[in-house]
Amino acid sequence: MFEKLNLIDPILKALKAEGYTKPTPIQEQAIPVLLQRKDLLGCAQTGTGKTAAFSIPILQLLHQDELYKKEPDGIKALILTPTRELAIQIGESLEAYGKLLRIRHTVIFGGVSQKPQTDALRAGVDILVATPGRLLDLMDQRYIKLDRLKMFVLDEADRMLDMGFIHDVKKIIARIPAKRQTILFSATMPPEIATLASTILTNPVRVEVTPVSSTANTVKQEIYFVDKANKRHLLLHLLKTKNINTALVFTRTKHGADRVAKDLNKAGIMAEAIHGNKSQNARQRALTNFKAQKTRVLVATDIAARGIDIDELSHVINFEIPNVPETYVHRIGRTGRAGASGSSISFCDAEEKAYLKDIQKLIGKPVPVATDNPFPMNGSNIVAPVPSNTRPLQKPQQKQQQPRRDFKRKQANTAPKKSTGNPSRKPSRDWLSMPGEKNY
Ligand code: AMP
Repeated sequence: MFEKLNLIDPILKALKAEGYTKPTPIQEQAIPVLLQRKDLLGCAQTGTGKTAAFSIPILQLLHQDELYKKEPDGIKALILTPTRELAIQIGESLEAYGKLLRIRHTVIFGGVSQKPQTDALRAGVDILVATPGRLLDLMDQRYIKLDRLKMFVLDEADRMLDMGFIHDVKKIIARIPAKRQTILFSATMPPEIATLASTILTNPVRVEVTPVSSTANTVKQEIYFVDKANKRHLLLHLLKTKNINTALVFTRTKHGADRVAKDLNKAGIMAEAIHGNKSQNARQRALTNFKAQKTRVLVATDIAARGIDIDELSHVINFEIPNVPETYVHRIGRTGRAGASGSSISFCDAEEKAYLKDIQKLIGKPVPVATDNPFPMNGSNIVAPVPSNTRPLQKPQQKQQQPRRDFKRKQANTAPKKSTGNPSRKPSRDWLSMPGEKNY
């Protein structure tokens, strides 16, 4: 019951209008702490209700400050988030939960004209939702002053790190008042984020829901070992033969996302791709079409899919295995939300086996191997026979399709063995037949 959390009437009414009947676990834990103006370290990923967990107390505290203290104008709360999509969703949440209050907010992000954003800022804002780059830009242009800031939220801190924004985030933190309430949310806690948390939070209360490695338990997972060149045929085969209502297909590159969507459309399956090269409007449109189930398949890169909230997503398909194991958990966490059943299907080629090992280590169990694979892996250059209803195979373009090795792996020197002196990075035979491999 939200009533037990000491929320004010206008917020309770707004939550009711949203159809929320009871707080999620993260809300139950975080809201009372934040209403006491304490710092908070939250371990939770998208889908847990974390946005409301920080938005509701911010709205309530600012509303109470307004009533009792006659606050001077200025931005009083800053919510930093890594992507435009997340920023928009946070803005929508503030709008919904604060619709009966007079707290003003605005959302700023890059990739679009700054004029409407600076106009909104000029009109006066209490809560600012921002992505780091655009915020720094507008601060440098003196459109934004943060000297009245009392509350600061760093949302999806681990993703800020993954996306290379952490330097910008640190610059921003250096420019906001030291005396403030700070909230940090992160799905995972890599060492760099743990260090940052310890420097920006003061005696934080730690709240945690579903640690990243255990979310994998609620989703049915399957792996298909398949040669790279056969992945597209396998995808088509599964979409034609399996009961897949909606599928979010992940590729590692923007180019790959476009190619998969194009292939599917050619085969008569409605698909759209979203990634950073598409305009904000095109991305939003693709998302709306997918949510309305006008398109059956949405192909996305990790960055584009970050923070996207899709109810009733039946399948996540990893067309390529991510090289960072946490990313796998983030991806499959898009399905099976709120107790609904969800499935994740992963395509693993010879070169991705090392990534799969890291994933299995993180989630603490092997991913079951699909038993109905019409394109079993034969070796990097040998391709499986193509059923007559699919198009003939094209030899993969080696250069484009090399998986990128992540820096960490290079450092740790745990990359799979490759035949020496082979610049095309074809896996060697001994790697393909490494002991224990066939058990997965
Ligand atoms: P988030 O983890 O903040 O991205 O939220 C995930 C989804 O859960 C959003 O669509 C919210 O609107 C929804 N949500 C958040 N809190 C609640 C609640 N207490 N009851 C029902 N839905 C909620």
